[in-house]
Amino acid sequence: MTAQHLALQLPSPLVELDDERLTDAGVRVLLKRDDLIHPELTGNKWRKLKYNLEAARECGARTLLTFGGAYSNHIRAVAAAGHYFGFGTVGVIRGEEHRPLNETLAYATRKGMRLTYLDRTTYREKAEPWVIARLRGRFGDFYLIPEGGSNRLAIPGCAELVDEITEPFEVICCPVGTGGTLAGIASALRAGQRAVGFSVLKGSDFLYHDVAALQSEALGEVTDNWIIETEFHHGGYAKTSDELEAFIAEFEELHELRLDSIYTGKMVYGLFRLIERDEFPSGTTMVAVITG
Ligand SMILES: *Cc1c(COP(=O)(O)O)cnc(C)c1O
Repeated sequence: MTAQHLALQLPSPLVELDDERLTDAGVRVLLKRDDLIHPELTGNKWRKLKYNLEAARECGARTLLTFGGAYSNHIRAVAAAGHYFGFGTVGVIRGEEHRPLNETLAYATRKGMRLTYLDRTTYREKAEPWVIARLRGRFGDFYLIPEGGSNRLAIPGCAELVDEITEPFEVICCPVGTGGTLAGIASALRAGQRAVGFSVLKGSDFLYHDVAALQSEALGEVTDNWIIETEFHHGGYAKTSDELEAFIAEFEELHELRLDSIYTGKMVYGLFRLIERDEFPSGTTMVAVITG
C-alpha cells in the first residue's frame, strides 16, 4: 500500500470562516481542514508519520513501536498506518490495562496492534535505554516512533501543510500537545509570517524548550517566528470547562463543524479570545489548522 492507494485528501481544503465576530474585528480566519485528510489517518498524525514510514521502510523495519495514553490519537494513527502500509505495530500504553478496552485501544487492536502497558513511573522513563532494551527483548527489532509522533522526521511532514496554502496570510495557529506540529509549521513560514501555538496542557512552559529542541534537531537552528499561548488549557490535558463546551456548541451551530475539546476547540477558543482583545491589527489574515 502506498499513500496514493489510500486516497488521502491532499492538499487538505482551505475554507474561510464566515463569522460576525471576525468581520467586526476586521480580520479573516481560514480553516486548514487537515481533519479531512483521511478518516483514519487524520490530520497532523498523518503529516508527522509520513517521513517516519518512509524511513522505517528504508531501514527494512517490519514493526513500528510507539507510546501513548489510552485515548491517544497517535496510537490510533500508528495502528492504522501499520495496517495500510504493511508494518506490524506495538502500542506501549501508559498505565494499567482496563477491560473491556476503550474505543481507541479496541480500534488499535482491530488494526493488528499489539498492546503492552507500562506503569506510570516506568512510562516517564520510556526514552531511557533500559526501557527500550526491555521492549526489544520482548518484541524484537522495531522502528521507534516517540509519543505523539514528534521527532526530527515529523518536521518536514508538517512543513508541507504550509506549502499547500495558496492564499497570503500573516498568522497561522495550531494546538500544541508535544509541539511537533508547531515546530514544523514554523519551519516553513516566510518572512512576515508567524505561528501561534495554543497549548492544551497546564503548566506547559517546558513546551518552549521542546519545540526549540525539535527544530534544532531537524533544521540545525531555531526559528524566531513562533510563540505559545499557555492560558487557554481549561484545566489541563483532556480537561474542559463549561465555557469551552459552550463555545464548541455555539461554533458547531454557526459553522456545522464540531471542534474537539482536547485540541482544536481550545485553539479556536483561544484565537477568538485574542481577536476579541484586539491582539491582531485589522486586515490580518489568519490560518487556523484543524489538526484532527
Ligand atoms: C496529537 C494532536 C495534536 C497535538 O500535536 P503536537 O504535534 O503533539 O503538538 C493537535 N491536534 C490534534 C487533533 C491531535 O490529535
